[in-house]
Amino acid sequence: MQNTLKMIPCPKCGNDFPEKRKELGYHVCINCSTVKPKVGVTTVEGTGDHTYNDIIIMDQDQYVSIARKEAELAGKKVHIEMLDLDKDESEISQSIKEKVNQTLDEELGESEYDMFDPDKEMEGIEGIDY
Ligand SMILES: [Zn+2]
Repeated sequence: MQNTLKMIPCPKCGNDFPEKRKELGYHVCINCSTVKPKVGVTTVEGTGDHTYNDIIIMDQDQYVSIARKEAELAGKKVHIEMLDLDKDESEISQSIKEKVNQTLDEELGESEYDMFDPDKEMEGIEGIDY
């Protein structure tokens, strides 16, 4: 008996695919998967002193074609492996999710603290006046 990857049937086409994929958030096999992860690209808008950062959310396909074009214009060769990217994206989005949750928790805790803080400070200021 070998310890092999557990396979589960795809609900769409019936082909087996690794259960690990389902754990990563995919419910169908790689052939049936049409939903590609979104990519966030940070851009710099405006000119001179009036620049600001913006973020564009686009499809992975869109991003890849833009990245290819960009590299082409820069005279570079770009090599994007979609399968690897697919895998990496899942891992990255997982760690981003964890970070976002962490940040939200921290921000929530901070704002609660700030709301109670002014009262305390006012008492302190009154004390200084005497
Ligand atoms: Zn399938």
